[in-house]
Formats: sequence, structure tokens, C-alpha cells
Amino acid sequence: MKQDNCIFCKIIAGEIPSHTLYEDEQFKVILDVNPATKGHALILPKEHFANLYELPEETAADAMRLAKRMMKKMTEKLDCDGFNIVQNNGEVAGQTVFHFHMHLIPRYKNDGEILKYIAGEPDQEELARIKKMLTE
Ligand code: AMP
Ligand code: ZN
Repeated sequence: MKQDNCIFCKIIAGEIPSHTLYEDEQFKVILDVNPATKGHALILPKEHFANLYELPEETAADAMRLAKRMMKKMTEKLDCDGFNIVQNNGEVAGQTVFHFHMHLIPRYKNDGEILKYIAGEPDQEELARIKKMLTE
């Protein structure tokens, strides 16, 4: 179902142009308009879901299968040295377009620390507390 004012729904409907790399009944894969690296692409389900919380499990599985196929083809064609698959959920996590999407980011030697985070150093007690919280 298309959602008004959703830029990705408009791209899928052909109302806004995009550089499409792949398309089937369920998904469209486009080049990101502000790429982090050469070839940065986005997998979009054609149906509108705001994020992974809303995405049906089966569609999530299909999206990951497609990501693997795209990654293989893009690596061959672009001759990249590695690959990040990124998927943001919620504003606090960096999501800016609220139509589920997966980023396919080819990585090249010396392309910079585009996804670096600061590694924490929790003690064993803290890790044990979190584990308890998540497994009870
Ligand atoms: P996120 O921050 O995970 O929500 O990512 C949204 C991504 O969509 C960003 O990387 C944007 O550069 C990209 N984007 C926004 N508008 C367009 C557009 N019209 N065509 C292609 N990519 C877009
Ligand atoms: Zn949408």
C-alpha cells in the first residue's frame, strides 16, 4: 500500500526518478542519491513498511536473500574490497526515510571510517546484567 508523502513510495510508483539497479514484484533496488561510497544502493520493498519492526518476517528474509545476491554481483562489477549492509530503525538510530530499506555499501581500501562507532568497555557484571535482562 502506497503512503502519501513517502519519498520511496513515490520512487516505487515512478513519480520520482531513480537509478534502478534491479526490480521484481516485491522489491526495487536503487542507487542512493547521496552515496557513502561508489555504488551505495538501497533495497526497497514495494509495499510500505516504516521499519524492520513492521516488516513481515518473510519479507525480511526475502530482503536478506536479495541483499546477498546484489552484494555478489556488485562486488564482481565494482571490484570492491568488502561490503557493509546497514539498516536503520528509528530517528535515534539514524533513520531519515521512514520506509524500510537496506543500505548496500561497497567498501574500498582507504575509503575512510564511514561507519565507525566508539567501542564500549563494560565490566563482566554489566554484561551479565544485560544478559539476564534479555534472556529472562
Ligand atoms: P536512512 O538514513 O537509513 O533512512 O537512509 C535514507 C537514505 O535515503 C539516505 O542515504 C539518503 O541519501 C537516501 N535518499 C533520500 N532520498 C533519496 C532519493 N530520492 N533517491 C535515492 N536515495 C535517496
Ligand atoms: Zn513508503
